[in-house]
Amino acid sequence: MTPDPSVRHAAELIRAGRLVAFPTETVYGLGANAMDPDAVARIFAAKGRPHTSPLIVHVDSIEMARSLASHWSAAADLLARRYWPGPLTLVVPKHPSIPDIVTAGLPTVGLRMPAHPLALELIRAAGVPIAGPSANRFTELSPTAVAHIPESLADYTLDGGPARVGIESTVLSLVDAPTLLRPGVISITELAALIGPILLAAAPAEGAHAAPGMHARHYRPATPLYLDTTPRAGKGVVLRMGQEMPADPQPYAAVLYETLHRLDTQSLDWIAIEPPPNTPEWAGILDRLRRAVA
Ligand code: AMP
Ligand code: MG
Repeated sequence: MTPDPSVRHAAELIRAGRLVAFPTETVYGLGANAMDPDAVARIFAAKGRPHTSPLIVHVDSIEMARSLASHWSAAADLLARRYWPGPLTLVVPKHPSIPDIVTAGLPTVGLRMPAHPLALELIRAAGVPIAGPSANRFTELSPTAVAHIPESLADYTLDGGPARVGIESTVLSLVDAPTLLRPGVISITELAALIGPILLAAAPAEGAHAAPGMHARHYRPATPLYLDTTPRAGKGVVLRMGQEMPADPQPYAAVLYETLHRLDTQSLDWIAIEPPPNTPEWAGILDRLRRAVA
């Protein structure tokens, strides 16, 4: 299948070592050729992201994922077959061909096959895996639409409409015992039903963040955010579950960042958000909200 002209252009830029903002079903990514260390260095520079934060590498197939892993376990294969393309990142031992800058020097790599058709077309047309963190400056809110992407972050932007999932992927390490590094809309309960018991990653020590999304302050809007329903002085809004916000986790995730981006443009003094229940289905959302208030 011949890709459309905008995808072809974006793929040429990727091959030339430039940065392309691209849609995925989770959030928009800032992509570069994962095999080109100079191109990947541009991602860190553009975002102001510390070099200690590894990037997720996006693939167009399980076959491409296997070629980037030094060991592809039975559990990795089972999970990839069940959830890819989709919002699940698998951390596996890295193949030596992946430049160290991509993985922040770690011997492991996070791999994901995104479910957005334009993302898959882009990787296919570029013919290389694409390293891509979210297309925002470090610690700021992830973009779920092109309008949220800071100007001049990328050399080119592919518009794929609003992100369907709305929060970043679930990240599962398969390096030793399966460990959940970041919750997302695919819950630990679902994953454990497929591969057995899964550990929860311990909170990282202050300053240390081998895993980027684990940085305590992250996913943060400019307006002060509170995890309660208490009105404050000045102009603000209270977002209650099942009222201003949806009552179920997936529709909630789909509108969360869009809502915060929109409120951020309204010069509010505060936003108060009713905390969702502390259950596996809400874990991804609760995690982002806790880090947004940090
Ligand atoms: P983001 O900032 O959304 O690109 O987040 C990337 C996420 O991928 C982080 O939360 C990490 O948990 C995870 N990640 C990526 N690569 C690795 C790796 N090599 N080891 C551990 N976690 C990784
Ligand atoms: Mg990010």
